[in-house]
Amino acid sequence: MKFGTMAIVGCPNVGKSTLVNTIVKQKIAIVSDKPQTTRSRILGVAHFPEGQLALLDTPGLHRPWHQLNKRMVQAALDTVHDADLLAVMVDGRQKPGAGDREVIEQVFSLTDRSKNKPAFLLVNKIDLMSKPKMLPVIEAYQQLGEWSEIVPLSAKTGLNVDRLRDLVFAQLSEHEGAYEEDFVTDQSLRCLAAEIVREKVLEQTRKELPYAVAVKIDEFKEKGRLFLIAASIVVEKTGQKAIVIGKSGQRLKEIGTAARLDLEREMCVKVFLDLHVKVRGAWRDNEQMLIELGY
Ligand code: GDP
Ligand code: MG
Repeated sequence: MKFGTMAIVGCPNVGKSTLVNTIVKQKIAIVSDKPQTTRSRILGVAHFPEGQLALLDTPGLHRPWHQLNKRMVQAALDTVHDADLLAVMVDGRQKPGAGDREVIEQVFSLTDRSKNKPAFLLVNKIDLMSKPKMLPVIEAYQQLGEWSEIVPLSAKTGLNVDRLRDLVFAQLSEHEGAYEEDFVTDQSLRCLAAEIVREKVLEQTRKELPYAVAVKIDEFKEKGRLFLIAASIVVEKTGQKAIVIGKSGQRLKEIGTAARLDLEREMCVKVFLDLHVKVRGAWRDNEQMLIELGY
């Protein structure tokens, strides 16, 4: 069998987490239409007849501007070093922007080219594009790096994802699998629970609440087939707390219900979810708070 690790890097929002979920066929990384949804690296393992492919989903690589982002960028850079194969993902609807160029530059300058790590370019979201529009975009990207493969695909619909898998396995060498057959992620249920709650908060608050949301699991208990989970939604300002709670608690209730249903589906158990909203000023710059939240 074959085994290898592929790191997926790219600007926020291009579809990295969606691809990991599609390949692993499970919800591992949360997905949203807001950038910076993925805050720390997440490992997903896909099991195929050909072998095992470990995928490292990374936060978007971009300029650090406060404590949290420095950590995110570091996580992304570490990931690149750990991988056998690098995949840079871009949104195929646009020509390379400053952010894409920077990611590509970083990847090619970081990679230990002497070890010859293959670099793939994944041109995503082709379900939203026509072929004639795709070609100039691919040509523009072709100039920017020495790609081993350029793969247009749709992470969302799965279009061409099998082809990507074949190309990836063609690059990997014979190796024993590193993971048990039922292992799909190193993300604990606890982390998954926190991520799912955070996803629901982001979904329900849309543009009103930017990145000032974190979720902390206060209690995680198993009682037979029931999981008792208590979580705090941490925001930075009182006004944000009011937004999350909503009129007479309606929004918080909806967040709780949506999160509970998702958790029950993912973990195949009954879940009792108790949510609270807490205000912690500037948690993103607070080292202690970041450690508590697991970043
Ligand atoms: P990430 O920040 O790179 O991890 O991006 P996400 O995986 O969170 O995806 C960002 C947004 O793009 C989400 O709304 C996804 O549903 C959407 N998306 C991702 N891949 C595709 C795709 O292939 N086609 C379409 N139409 N949307 C996609
Ligand atoms: Mg992501």
